Amino acid sequence: MSHHHNPFVKKLLALFKKTHEDDKDKESSKYPSALNAKYEIGEKTLGVGSFAVVKECTNRITNEKCAVKIILKKVIAGKQQMLDSELDILTKVHHEHIVSMHDIFESNDAVYIITDLCTGGELFQRIVERGTYTEAMAADLVRQILEGLAYLHSLDIVHRDIKPENLLFKTPEEDAELLITDFGLSKLLKNNNEVLTTACGTPGYVAPEVLLGTGHGKPVDLWSVGVIMYTLLSGYTPFYGEDQNELFDSIMKAEYEFDEEYWGDISIEAKNLINKLLTFNPTERITAEEALHDIWITGETDNDINLAPNVRKGFNNRRTLRSIVAAVTAINKLKLED
Ligand code: ADP
Ligand code: MG
Repeated sequence: MSHHHNPFVKKLLALFKKTHEDDKDKESSKYPSALNAKYEIGEKTLGVGSFAVVKECTNRITNEKCAVKIILKKVIAGKQQMLDSELDILTKVHHEHIVSMHDIFESNDAVYIITDLCTGGELFQRIVERGTYTEAMAADLVRQILEGLAYLHSLDIVHRDIKPENLLFKTPEEDAELLITDFGLSKLLKNNNEVLTTACGTPGYVAPEVLLGTGHGKPVDLWSVGVIMYTLLSGYTPFYGEDQNELFDSIMKAEYEFDEEYWGDISIEAKNLINKLLTFNPTERITAEEALHDIWITGETDNDINLAPNVRKGFNNRRTLRSIVAAVTAINKLKLED
């Protein structure tokens, strides 16, 4: 995996690390007593998202290892009532490709969500580390995302924030299951679009109707799957701009290409499904349930060419996803602190 962060990103990460470490001492005494009574919070930070810090914890009774997601109330949209009822619903959601929420606790300035622990890392991290990687393997990953989404959508829950950092492998094993995390939380957060607009060149997983302000229903999640599928097969994102306006224009025009250099060996079935997912009009876009029956997903395509070198090249030569993600995360985290 490449660690060629540019100086700007390095600086941000260093700054972030400092901010976060300073925070830690204050934090331990701040955990609500109900949380402390039931779970032991570990020191280790599992990850940092745009809105939350995630740590490992252990259920004191069952000894089960879990994750605790700490969201500062600063970033939660006004109404606490909405939060409570929404979160209540989310704890009832259980599926093999969804990270379950076990418990929710509150303090004056944070909400603590206890979830399944995923130890296998984020989606793209794992792909880049892999030696071989085929279309069939990509199809298997996309199928798991679609199964989770079809379930959420059947409960009328729209995820709204499907992106690689919210897709985690359950274990480090080769054949580990992929799980969707963070479902239903995005609407609790204020100015969700701000995340998108903070950094130039942020990979946009967001659907055009969200940017246009004309829609935010279930189809937005399928668009994001389209962006992820495109990226899984090529190593770079379909939409790009020199700055934020250009990126948004590119998304809103829904114009993307299958550049021959990267897409020459990719099956026509894969491109067809991407086209059905990255369909501008949300009412014409394929649904999760329909996509699960697509020929590319059901595995009738037989493309076992090793994509790993290509995808790695895409990652390195193009919009170096990891550093972009890291920069955005750091920027947003810094914003939480001021
Ligand atoms: P945010 O909503 O702020 O983006 P996330 O829920 O995506 O926060 O968590 C941030 C990071 O923490 C993730 O990208 C992942 O690396 C790590 N993480 C989140 N949930 C878990 C979990 N259940 N198990 C292990 N690591 C997790
Ligand atoms: Mg997240």
